Amino acid sequence: MPTIELAALLNHSDTAGRPVILKAAVAAGVLWKCRKSACSHHNDAGEELCRGCGRNSNGQPLSDSQPGPYVAPHEIWEMLREEVRDHFLAQEITPLPDAVTFPWRSDDPTSTWSLTDLVVHHGGRQEPYSSDLQNTEIESALEEVARAVEPGYLEDLRITLQP
Ligand SMILES: [Zn+2]
Repeated sequence: MPTIELAALLNHSDTAGRPVILKAAVAAGVLWKCRKSACSHHNDAGEELCRGCGRNSNGQPLSDSQPGPYVAPHEIWEMLREEVRDHFLAQEITPLPDAVTFPWRSDDPTSTWSLTDLVVHHGGRQEPYSSDLQNTEIESALEEVARAVEPGYLEDLRITLQP
């Protein structure tokens, strides 16, 4: 059976054929359809968040992703959240991102999460964000997190800016 590019198929479909193709792609698990009826965007199977509205495939908004199976006290996450939010408010970045991901830096086993190359989330849209957060309150807050959760699983850490 030939391998067919879904995008090519959609590009050559008419208005009647398009919904049929999308429905088949969802049934085949190639795409997932956003549950928010006002959005109904079709997303690639690999996308965690809807590119239309930022909800996940269960219809839930962007949430924190905490590293590893360890559970840190709530206050530690709140402290980090507050520091990250303060940083973006101080930079007068508008609109304020929904969340920020600190990628795990794997090249140095003694380091933790990157303090220079971050990712900001606006709904399902992600943008790289470069900054130098070394020697800031954010660095201290991340160190607190690392002490509390012993991140041994090399996961990225995503924190939402709204509690
Ligand atoms: Zn959506």
